[in-house]
Formats: sequence, structure tokens, C-alpha cells
Amino acid sequence: MTKGKTGNSKFLKAYNEKGILDLIRTKQAVSRAELSKETGLSPTAIGVIVSSLIEREYIHEIGTGESSGGRKPVLLELKPDSWYSVGLDIEVGIIQYVLMDITGRVAYEGSVPLRANTPEMAVKASADCVRDVMDKFSIKKERLLGVGISVPGIVDSKSHRVVLAPNIGWEDADPAGMLEKALELPVCIENEAMASAICENWIGSCQTASNFVCLNIKSGIGAGIFTGGRPYRGTNGSAGEVGHIVVDEDGPRCGCGNYGCLETLASTGSIIEKAKKIIRQGVASSLREKDDIDEITLEDITNAARTGDAASANILEEATRYIGIALSNLINMLNPSRIVLGKDFTVYGSLVLDTLRSIIDAKALKRPASNVELIISEIGERASTLGAAIIPLKKLFGR
Ligand SMILES: [Zn+2]
Repeated sequence: MTKGKTGNSKFLKAYNEKGILDLIRTKQAVSRAELSKETGLSPTAIGVIVSSLIEREYIHEIGTGESSGGRKPVLLELKPDSWYSVGLDIEVGIIQYVLMDITGRVAYEGSVPLRANTPEMAVKASADCVRDVMDKFSIKKERLLGVGISVPGIVDSKSHRVVLAPNIGWEDADPAGMLEKALELPVCIENEAMASAICENWIGSCQTASNFVCLNIKSGIGAGIFTGGRPYRGTNGSAGEVGHIVVDEDGPRCGCGNYGCLETLASTGSIIEKAKKIIRQGVASSLREKDDIDEITLEDITNAARTGDAASANILEEATRYIGIALSNLINMLNPSRIVLGKDFTVYGSLVLDTLRSIIDAKALKRPASNVELIISEIGERASTLGAAIIPLKKLFGR
């Protein structure tokens, strides 16, 4: 925000507009006088910018607020259902998608099966999802700020290509470029853990946190890291690959070629494999009552643990201990104020959160450990889809 300038250049005008729009978003209901006071821009300059934002239907007037003497001020707010974005989350065999309006409200949620995990198939299905919501809600292309994609892999932060997404078998793919061509709309792409972190920062539990980490545990394990209020992606975009922190040198071989990576010991897949293994070995467990051992799910293991099955509880505890070791390293390195645990961790997290806390207290340095809050994501499974939809919105607000 430029203080004390009326902003006569195009650049300054756009810059100030984004800043004002973001203030209206964060303050929720705000008067022109407050905007002037907050930004240092003259009431005339604020008046011009606000009129322009109202004309383009980004914001609207919503009645009057408290008066501090004299006329009651008219309050401004983002205009619901005026502008939209679509978020897509590409996962193994499925695409989740949401339609979000400028205020961050989810207008629609859906999913479609992904018959083949190829970039071509994913782009085709994604384009269909976007057209579907545009049709359903009669949204014109001009009212769509853009499309965001979340992928379970490393996204190059400059070329925006997917460098590697092992779980869906992609290497050097350009789904964002392909979708942009198909839809003739701006398309952004983000790693799914970072998309979740963006979501937690915009509408979730980290709106006021500057330094935080979102750890997503699923078929893979990844972290979205924010430092100083901004996403930290590293040099090429591969920061946060926590799943490949080695937690047991003699552990199983990982898809990356290494041994004992966190993913091999604490991913959802590894937890389920462990459960099948102990049943085959004849360990006593209520999981044996399941008709088909190959059909065991994380929910089954969690339910068994919750109803007193020691074997199931042990499996979850063991995976959590490895997560605790990796997080202790992360805490020593980054000194975050919050760690939000998401995706499949939300299924069993309440059972193991105390264990996780005690491992971190034992293994991380005292000071950073005592200052970090561990939170189970309330947004859960949808965080990366919502985060993908938030990316095009963020640009509008200059964030
Ligand atoms: Zn690995």
C-alpha cells in the first residue's frame, strides 16, 4: 500500500486497488473513512477506487455501521456470487473440484473418477469439471478469475510443470499449460500440501500465523511451508518433501530409491500394509473379523483401535512415532508456531495426538518444541481442493 499518494500511474492504481480490496476482505465490513485511515490514501482517492471496485462488482455496500458522531458510515464488503474460481485436486483415480466465490464461500463441490492417471486424461476430466460448474451456475468465462490445480507431486516454481508425481506416475508433465489451452482461462498449479497450506492461511486455522507447516499424510507425505507469511518453495519448488526424510536407515526401500524414508513407515499405504502383515502373521486383533483382509481400510484400523484393539492401536502409534521424529527435525530447523496435520491424519489423529506431542517434546529442542502448536486440520480432506481454488483469488487481492 502506498501511503499518502493518490496513485496517478496505472501501476500504482492497480497496486492500491488490490490493497484496498484485500483490506475489505480481511476487515469484512469497513467504511471508506476507515480505509482512508488505514492506508493513508486521501478520502478522494479512496472514493475513486471504491467506486471502481463497486462498478466491477468486486464489492458492494451493505448498510451502515456505528457512527462516531455525525452521519453513520456506509459499510463495504466483498460481493458474494459475483466472481468465481474453480479448484481441482488431482489424486490417484479421482479428481475433486470446487466452485468458490470471491468471498471464499464454496458454491459447489463435486468429484469425478479418473479412469487413467495420465496428464491427458486428467486435463480432459478437469476441463469437463470446469465446464460443468460454469453450466450449472450459468457463470460466464469473464466472471471466472481462474482455475487452480493441486497435484500430489513436485511442481517447478518457475516453469509450473510437474517435475515428478510418483503416486500418479507423472514425470515432466504440463497439465496447467494443457488445461489453459483447453479452457482459454488462466490456470495455476500447486503441490497439494502447499495448496492445503494456502487454504489454512486464507480461510482455515493459520490466518494469523506467519510461520507454519501443513503436513499432509496420505499415500505420500508432504509439507506446505509458510515462512514470514509467504509460501516457502525452495529453489525449484521441491521444499517440503518431508516424506523422504530418512527416519530409519535400515527401513524399507522407498519409491525414491532410498531406504527408511518417512513415507515407507507412516504413509496410509504403509499403515494398511502393516495391518495386513500382522493379521497374516496370526497376531490377535479384531481386524481378523474382516471378511477380506485385502479390503482393510484406514477407517477399519482406526475403529478397531478406538474400540480397544491393541494391535491396531500399536500400528497407528508406531507410524506416529516416525512422524514425530521427522517433525522434530522440522521444528528444530524452521521454528514454526503451528503444525497443521491434514488429509488421512484427520481420520486417526485424535487417537495419537498425545503420542505425537510427547515424541516432539522428547526429541526436538525445548524452546521451539514448547512454542509449536499441533493441530488436526478442521478442513481435512478438502483443504488442497479449496487451496487450489484460492490461488486465483489470491492474485486478485495482490497476495
Ligand atoms: Zn523416499
